[in-house]
Amino acid sequence: MTIHLYDTHAHLDDERFHTDLEAVLDRARCAGVVAINTIGIDRATSQAAVALAQRYDALRAVVGIQPNHVAEVQAQDWDTILAFAGLPQVVAIGETGLDRYWDRAPIALQEEWFDRHLELARQWNKPVIIHCREAEADVVRMLRNQYDRFGPLRGVMHSFSGDATTAEACLAMGLYLSFAGMLTYKKNHDLRAVAQRVPLDRLLIESDSPYLAPEPQRGKRNEPSYVAHTANVLATLQGVPLETLAQQTTANAYSLFGETKPA
Ligand SMILES: [Zn+2]
Repeated sequence: MTIHLYDTHAHLDDERFHTDLEAVLDRARCAGVVAINTIGIDRATSQAAVALAQRYDALRAVVGIQPNHVAEVQAQDWDTILAFAGLPQVVAIGETGLDRYWDRAPIALQEEWFDRHLELARQWNKPVIIHCREAEADVVRMLRNQYDRFGPLRGVMHSFSGDATTAEACLAMGLYLSFAGMLTYKKNHDLRAVAQRVPLDRLLIESDSPYLAPEPQRGKRNEPSYVAHTANVLATLQGVPLETLAQQTTANAYSLFGETKPA
């Protein structure tokens, strides 16, 4: 049986891919990765994501201003994101959310931008990609506010690293949870215990390339083909064959990000 994987989060515009992106995409294809979302974090990288998605069949773009970059935003940057949001290659809005790990933007400003992205996603009926680092309670509070006003949310908690309570709150509002390489790290027992209990039909996988490569590639530049290692760990946790895990997470991703890539 052929394995098909969907890497829902990568930053392929990163300079670490400038010299060998074609080889990286070849290795991904050989590992069974049939689709990859490449994510913008500001105006320039969102623009790069769109250009990559236009160039390579397996790639789809996600555009937005990542919370660590909202303090530098110029008016024309957001105009660019608005102009991209409706493109057929753009399958989601983000990444957006809150980040207290880095102190690069005041949290009130991050919240303002998070809301702005949620509204944009709703406007285009596209899912939202949520980044949350050391800000679980505030992210859940803001999402619940959206949920109370507009009903179930369409989106994903990317590289989920929260606890069981956060996971349950996000699942209850309709979100998917996406797991990255951190799931494979020896000491992350708590995260694996959370992943074990997520319903199979709400799971996604991602590489988060070029960051945080999974075991046994930890420490190297991460790339989409390595998402297979994370899928393997997740299959074991869920108690299903890798084929089942791959098939279901890929179906989940297609259902969230659109069935086929528009021309
Ligand atoms: Zn990211």
